[in-house]
Amino acid sequence: MNMKEIICLGIESTAHTFGIGIVAGSGKILANVKDVFTTETGGMIPNEVAEHHRKIADRVIGDALKQANLKLEDINLISFSKGPGLAPSLLVGLEKAKQLAEKLNVPLVGVNHCIAHLEIGNLLTGAKDPVLLYASGVNTQIIAFEGGKYRIFGETLDIGIGNFLDSFARELGIGFPGGPKIEQLAKQGKNYIELPYVVKGMDVSFGGMLTNLKQKTKSNKFSKEDLAFSAQETAFAMLIEVSERAMAHCNKKELLLGGGVCCNKRLQEMANTMCKERNAECFVPENQFLVDNAAMIAWQGIIEHNAGRKEDLEKTDILPHWRTDQVDAAWRN
Ligand code: AMP
Ligand code: MG
Repeated sequence: MNMKEIICLGIESTAHTFGIGIVAGSGKILANVKDVFTTETGGMIPNEVAEHHRKIADRVIGDALKQANLKLEDINLISFSKGPGLAPSLLVGLEKAKQLAEKLNVPLVGVNHCIAHLEIGNLLTGAKDPVLLYASGVNTQIIAFEGGKYRIFGETLDIGIGNFLDSFARELGIGFPGGPKIEQLAKQGKNYIELPYVVKGMDVSFGGMLTNLKQKTKSNKFSKEDLAFSAQETAFAMLIEVSERAMAHCNKKELLLGGGVCCNKRLQEMANTMCKERNAECFVPENQFLVDNAAMIAWQGIIEHNAGRKEDLEKTDILPHWRTDQVDAAWRN
């Protein structure tokens, strides 16, 4: 029997980020490298993003192998993000994954991007059965494993929280990506300005608040600092309210953060406070594992490979609209 340790190379390409992660079967992260497509405005034309990914893919693979101090032949498992995401970007990941699996003659596993955020968080923080607050550019979801599935307990009814912050930042003329800039500006805010707070059950909506903020910005009656502060306080309070409701509903004692917006220190502080008040624990992975990254795809590949999952190289495809609750979580059951 071949007892060689699994070394998985994972490919992330759901949106702006093209990443390569290399992870060992023990959970040791050997490499986590990425190249992010950027523009002045932050606008994303899917075909341009795909072109970027295609251009830099081999270089990023090389960089990751170098970081891991490995040769391509040392890789014995390949994984990739099957979805959800932008089809043209996802296709670049699929192509590369198939090429590598064929060339190395090793198994291939396609994984769900949102669930990978949850499982890498568990690996790195020691959380065991958390509610995940997944707050990224496009996605805003409250996810937990319940009744044999990963279920979405709440989500945005319109735009993702990251897109909300980025659009508001564009209106303020402070550049892209807007989240970190708003975080800095908000620190100087002194007055809370009332904004539309929209929570429906465990769902949230940011569209109304964005329109309202645009009007307030144009009116010149409020300082940018106060608007940034108020936008953060309102939007984050909505996220914390629905996270808490999901924790109470599922009777779970752990909250895990995932997604780029969770890099925000004020959001982390609010999450910590809420958890303390209900005797729960809050887990926050370091920034490189909060944003889109490929280490999480490699780790998810290992988990699913160990549970016996394998893609048929001929038939495998991307799933741009894959819902978290459609995933067959065989490795958990
Ligand atoms: P992701 O889609 O998970 O890679 O995350 C990207 C999003 O995270 C973008 O919308 C950024 O504006 C947002 N983001 C990154 N850092 C921060 C921060 N410190 N505060 C708020 N949002 C952030
Ligand atoms: Mg993500």
